[in-house]
Amino acid sequence: MNYKLTIGWLYPKLMSTYGDRGNVIVLQKRCEWRKIETEIKIIDTLSTNKDLSSCDLLMMGGAQDTQQEIVAKDLKKKKSTFKKMIEDGTPGLYICGGFQYLGRYYKTAQGNKLPQLEVLDMYTENPGRERLIGNIAIDAQNLFEKRTVLVGFENHGGRTIPGDNIKPLGRVLRGFGSNDISKEEGALYKNTIGTYLHGPILSKNPVLADYLIEKALELKYKTDITLEMLDDSLEEKARMAIAKRLQIAI
Ligand code: GLN
Repeated sequence: MNYKLTIGWLYPKLMSTYGDRGNVIVLQKRCEWRKIETEIKIIDTLSTNKDLSSCDLLMMGGAQDTQQEIVAKDLKKKKSTFKKMIEDGTPGLYICGGFQYLGRYYKTAQGNKLPQLEVLDMYTENPGRERLIGNIAIDAQNLFEKRTVLVGFENHGGRTIPGDNIKPLGRVLRGFGSNDISKEEGALYKNTIGTYLHGPILSKNPVLADYLIEKALELKYKTDITLEMLDDSLEEKARMAIAKRLQIAI
């Protein structure tokens, strides 16, 4: 069987801080190594809803508030397509500013309240005081059903407050996470993953890249997929080095 995935890269010019573009490269490369064909489709202000709905897997990075205001206006036009895709199980990785779009609103440091996609029962407010910056490690046990340490880098002013029915991606081991109180990080909804981890997250944590690829293939080809194993020894060494520096057990 020749598999093919169309990876929708959302607003690459506006939403791509701290190496987020690397996530698309990782997805593409890990597919290529397994002979899975990929097409990278840029979804931005010039794209139509049809362009968006032709994607099998989505990735949106983070940004500054100014860029988020521009994207929020454009997202309004794509909101119903977006919501339908997420409801139908289209896998996606939404980072920092990208994660904030999944909620009800994002109040910027300037106090502008930007309406968001309303996929998840949560909201984000940026009080304009100290930003939450630094290396972060989480246990993404909710996604992998066993202790799985993911490492990354966070830099956000926004504090995301989840509703009662939000399942976080994981528990914070080091760093801040969704806000500075709950010690929870990110969100999971169907095959949608929201997180504050830049890094890029997928190069540091290939297990997450494979999770997304697997889910995208399963949804598209309606069959169980077990991806061929790759040699991740270098990635693993890097992850161990970070864990050691943060003094956590992997
Ligand atoms: N501008 C948003 C905030 O400060 C998102 C930042 C980011 O994506 N790194 O919270």
